[in-house]
Amino acid sequence: MVDDDVPVVIVGGSLVGLSTAVFLGHHGVPSLVLERHRGTAIHPRAALVNQRTVEAYRAVGLQEEVEEAAAREFVQNGAIVSVESLGGKELDWYFRFINEGVEEISPVPRLFVTQIGLEPVLRGAAERLGARIRYASETVSVEQDAEGVTAVVRPRDGGPERTVRARYLVAADGAHSPIRERFGIRRLGHGSFSDSITIYFKADVRRLMGDRNLSVVYVFGPHLQGFFRFSIDLQAGFLVVNSTTDAGGARSVRVGEDMSGPTCIQHVREALGDPDIPVEIENVQRWSASAAYAERLQEGRVFLAGDAVHEMPPTGGFGGNCGVQDGYDLAWKLAHVLDGRAGAELLDTYDAERRPVGAFTTEQAYTRYVLRLDPTLGKENLMPIVDEAAVEIGYRYRSAAVVAGTAGDDAMWEDPREPSGRPGFRAPHLPVTVGGIEQSTLDLFGREFVVLAGSDGERWCAAARAAGTSLGVPVEAHRLGVDVTEADGAFETLYGTGPEGAVLVRPDGFIAWRASTPHSNPEGELADALGAALARPPAGS
Ligand SMILES: Cc1cc2nc3c(=O)[nH]c(=O)nc-3n(C[C@H](O)[C@H](O)[C@H](O)COP(=O)(O)OP(=O)(O)OC[C@H]3O[C@@H](n4cnc5c(N)ncnc54)[C@H](O)[C@@H]3O)c2cc1C
Repeated sequence: MVDDDVPVVIVGGSLVGLSTAVFLGHHGVPSLVLERHRGTAIHPRAALVNQRTVEAYRAVGLQEEVEEAAAREFVQNGAIVSVESLGGKELDWYFRFINEGVEEISPVPRLFVTQIGLEPVLRGAAERLGARIRYASETVSVEQDAEGVTAVVRPRDGGPERTVRARYLVAADGAHSPIRERFGIRRLGHGSFSDSITIYFKADVRRLMGDRNLSVVYVFGPHLQGFFRFSIDLQAGFLVVNSTTDAGGARSVRVGEDMSGPTCIQHVREALGDPDIPVEIENVQRWSASAAYAERLQEGRVFLAGDAVHEMPPTGGFGGNCGVQDGYDLAWKLAHVLDGRAGAELLDTYDAERRPVGAFTTEQAYTRYVLRLDPTLGKENLMPIVDEAAVEIGYRYRSAAVVAGTAGDDAMWEDPREPSGRPGFRAPHLPVTVGGIEQSTLDLFGREFVVLAGSDGERWCAAARAAGTSLGVPVEAHRLGVDVTEADGAFETLYGTGPEGAVLVRPDGFIAWRASTPHSNPEGELADALGAALARPPAGS
């Protein structure tokens, strides 16, 4: 007997599961979220929410709420530094402020908000958009057949098991992902390299902080390596300890073997640089610092997202953000396949697009871990460091849902400060005026396919509408200088369309196709591009 029948069931209701439920709801797809815990996060964990993630939340109308949650928790736009201890010598400034050098590339800033602050916002939005969230509910089995997926759910507080039937399942069930294990999906990468701990403590650090606004403080001291984050009132915080070094210089990564109160107090005092400061330990969590990514993200009707498929050390603040983008990529595809606008093969592009990004991002986090915290892991075979903005926003998708551009152009990422508008990259931000309202080009995207044509590209706009009609898919079309105007004349260069070309932008804001010149058959050209982006066979085939 089936107790619930839903289009999409999501296993795991933390950052990635909740975000995916929001994005699905935005596209009109109701979901059921099954979460083993009794509510949203009780540990802060992720805090650096990058611009691409804020852009996704903006697209679903959540930017303001997320900013308010962020402002309640932190003074925004702090620095990221490394020190010997908070009160001691400063070693390096990775960022003078976290939005340094990225203000122009997006209409939104990087924010600082923990999972404690963010998840209730996501939960509320998901529920408003039609998701049901069932806490204290553990998924104990997942089976699939040609038509759908069956999950058996065990209520943690007793009562009978329930059977959920869905067309598709998203496994956002974390680094230990029972669903990944169930399907025998192996992981690649560097494995685990530290038995780390996070110490949640109370201490008045105002004197040691002085007038600095520090978002993340890496500690690379003689006896301890890890990082701090502090509460807005500087009366509490957490210290991650990844490794310790004894008086003889021997380094240990088995920090979790001693989580006793006195040891934790000693760690906090050492990292603060004050041997006598009163410290109260509130909680200690043990976790494994790992860098691992799954060999595949899909098993039939089951799609894996977030830490389930890319576990990375927190260095860089990439992990949760990368998982949110998995959900953002998957949601519009599921929505289009579920209502028949796209062919089922569109879902295969999820793995093709997101797996390389997960692996790349994990390697970038690992490189930062080695360079910032544990050079003894060895610098040979490290992926060279890529600028944060490129990791966060500049990655490229290659799949059947992107019409490849120039032959031989195999760039996998670019600096979003110098965007190219090539197919597979995020459509760049530009300030524009639409219907008298000042906004970003990004505000044109988010729900439907959009064609943006250069100032002489009227034929592309007509072709876009015709292609949409023939495929039964809404396509919005805008021409520069007509219904979209911009102050600095940069669009045609930034998007690479010239005056007579156009781009086709997907609902997730990625460029699916581009023409830089006119075409003898724009209707056919755009119908083919839209058909490819929707995994629909060309007309007449
Ligand atoms: C100290 C620290 C700092 C970090 N800082 C950042 C940062 O600044 N920025 C950033 O982007 N990332 C950061 N991260 C990483 C970030 O926390 C994770 O990437 C993110 O939480 C992953 O979210 P997730 O939803 O994929 O997995 P999880 O948060 O692990 O959630 C998985 C959920 O699935 C549930 N679940 C598992 N199995 C089942 C089941 N069978 N049935 C029902 N429910 C199940 C679990 O209860 C859990 O709630 C940090 C991590 C740490 C440890």
